[in-house]
Amino acid sequence: MPELPDIFVLANSMNAALQTKVITDAQVNQPKCLNVSTIKFKKYIKRRRIESIRQRGKWILGQLDTNWILAFNLGMGGEIRLHNRDERPDAERERVVLILDTGEQVWIHHWWFGHVHLLQSKDLANHKQLSKLGLEPLDDTFTVEKFSEMLRGKRGRIKSYLLDQSFIAGIGNVYVQDTLWYARLHPNRTANTLTHEEIKALHSAIQHVLKQGIRFGGGPGEQDIWGNPGMYSKHLQVGYKTGKACPRCKSIIEELRVGSTTSYICPKCQL
Ligand SMILES: [Zn+2]
Repeated sequence: MPELPDIFVLANSMNAALQTKVITDAQVNQPKCLNVSTIKFKKYIKRRRIESIRQRGKWILGQLDTNWILAFNLGMGGEIRLHNRDERPDAERERVVLILDTGEQVWIHHWWFGHVHLLQSKDLANHKQLSKLGLEPLDDTFTVEKFSEMLRGKRGRIKSYLLDQSFIAGIGNVYVQDTLWYARLHPNRTANTLTHEEIKALHSAIQHVLKQGIRFGGGPGEQDIWGNPGMYSKHLQVGYKTGKACPRCKSIIEELRVGSTTSYICPKCQL
């Protein structure tokens, strides 16, 4: 499932590839991934120019030259790809296809839980999922002070808060692993027991790991709109490295269950 860096990279590549292009038509092969009828969907996106595309949490928001926004969520195993005029999409696989004035096509595929929503800018605050998203961890508003305030009185595991999309948006079970390792925190630590120094270290680890993910083009199995694969997996420190040596202290990395997720930790470094 894509996380913030993967979505950031994809949104950026979509912005580069699609900005100023006009949507001339759409093919909807899976109407249930829309939040409106196919007729309404086509009516409001046809002849609309794509102004800009950006990431928000695990969503991609495409601003059209009206008040309308196309919001994409890849769910699990999803991809958004640019194709040439002469290519023919497999209607069974591609849920929605956007046709552009250049003749190019945007194929949107997901096998589960994916969405292509159409909403007005003013309705972002009421959208069922988008309105519940927490702070963007790479935003200026996410400061150490703010983070410290957010963690106050929180009695659950630190890992659960990091994965909670309404707390901080965009972190999932791939990027959380090294984040906790850099911050030297055990995933089971109770959030409100973190010292100010630990909160500072965690704040900086969150931003470092997400930026690394972006720098290396996203995580394992993720691709941009042209199909360039993410290379972050080559830079993982402890994530998915059970049995390997911790890059810091050489202890053997362990795997453990934390809630419903798997964690990879250095038993010496992470307390
Ligand atoms: Zn270690």
